[in-house]
Amino acid sequence: MSERFDAIVVGAGPSGIACAYKLAKSGINVVVFERGGAPGAKNVSGGILYSTILNKLIPEFWKEAPVERHVVRRRYSFLSKDSDVSFDLKFASFDRPPYNYSFTVLRARFDAWFAKKAEEAGALIITEAVVDDFIMEDGRIRGVKVRREGGEVYADVVICAEGANSVLAEKAGRKRPDPFSMVLGVKEVISLPKDIIEDRFSLEEGQGASFEFFGEALGGEAGSGFVYTNTDTLSVGIGCPVSALKDKKLKPNDLLDSFKKHPSVKNLLRGGAIEEYSAHLIPEGGYGALPELVKDGLILVGDCAGFVNPSVYKEGSNLAMASGLFAAETVIEAKKKGDFSKKTLDGYVKRLAGSFVVKDLKRYKDVPGLLRSTPELFKEYPERVLELLQGYFTVSDESKEDAHREIKRLFRSKVSVWRLLFDIYRLRRLIT
Ligand code: FAD
Repeated sequence: MSERFDAIVVGAGPSGIACAYKLAKSGINVVVFERGGAPGAKNVSGGILYSTILNKLIPEFWKEAPVERHVVRRRYSFLSKDSDVSFDLKFASFDRPPYNYSFTVLRARFDAWFAKKAEEAGALIITEAVVDDFIMEDGRIRGVKVRREGGEVYADVVICAEGANSVLAEKAGRKRPDPFSMVLGVKEVISLPKDIIEDRFSLEEGQGASFEFFGEALGGEAGSGFVYTNTDTLSVGIGCPVSALKDKKLKPNDLLDSFKKHPSVKNLLRGGAIEEYSAHLIPEGGYGALPELVKDGLILVGDCAGFVNPSVYKEGSNLAMASGLFAAETVIEAKKKGDFSKKTLDGYVKRLAGSFVVKDLKRYKDVPGLLRSTPELFKEYPERVLELLQGYFTVSDESKEDAHREIKRLFRSKVSVWRLLFDIYRLRRLIT
């Protein structure tokens, strides 16, 4: 194989396929190389697809895409060792099209469908094709080397959509992400009958729930956990900074097991059977960790550029697709000009800067630093706050005034109230 295309996309995840779809629709000759046996094969389990951009590409996609459930219920729980306090939100409007653009999906099914749409639009998708390197000529990228016999493929531009663990992005100059900002996500898909899921999560047919767990979800380590409902399975997982795993020699599957055994989690999973297990990196370095996004003949999109909102919103899929779309629009413009230099491809950076992608990353730019500098958030604060609340709701024969005085005294003896108020003020950026 020694061929020439207008554009090469490396990786058939949401960012790469969004880009290839738009390019193919616009008549650009595009090839996608995917190392998996099929698109989605390397992203086996599920998550929440945020999909305003997908809806721009394929209006009312949910009528044909293999989405599992639309998310109407969101619960955010703060855990101590054995208790929780939760905010539980359910909105009737999320039960109607466009369903708040939030759907649970199983990536193996969703990615395969999305890639098929790109193929139907005219993109060539080649699976079991690992891209190992760029082809450099005259100091600029001219194509890629695919791990196949004679696998030198040329194009005017390469769109790198390799995901978080991108070897090519590093070859192009991206710094190795710092281990606190690189989160390891470990997920299981657990099967349960559809009716049980709906009863257990208080859902009507087709409705879905997303439960996020903070505080002591991982036995006091930094990180969080989640349970999402699919049609007849649950996606259950945790995310923990690589630095914590490395420094404390923790095993990710032990953390997932301890999360699954937490009293506020285990009953949600009761009776389920594990169907799949997977682990994947999530780049949560935010705005401060963004690499150079464009070079002559090269654009970085999606996770390989670090486009994940690290706040409580935890959006990656929508940002990935938005960046893929902006990359495609820029390539279409460059094709018209016949110029794929950095100067023209900088149109991508301008599109991103005017969009929710960079605006949100900027807004939450302090989140990685805040999480790093507030270890109390994962153990001490949840324990103390839940102790305080438990005290307020404990029935006794003391007068409420006496009981409350004692609870407050106990709380103040363990936590500096000023420090706590200061931290609450600092940490508002996690959610606002
Ligand atoms: P990826 O989805 O990682 O796709 C990259 C593709 O490139 C893969 O198919 C891979 O096989 C291929 N590839 C890699 N290297 C090569 C190579 N050298 N040659 C050829 N192919 C290659 N986001 C949300 O919005 N909502 C969620 O609920 C959510 N939950 C998550 C839970 C976990 C545990 C994890 C790990 C992530 C979660 N995310 C979530 C983040 C979301 O999955 C990512 O932001 C999104 O998938 C990024 O898309 P991408 O196309 O950039 O990368």
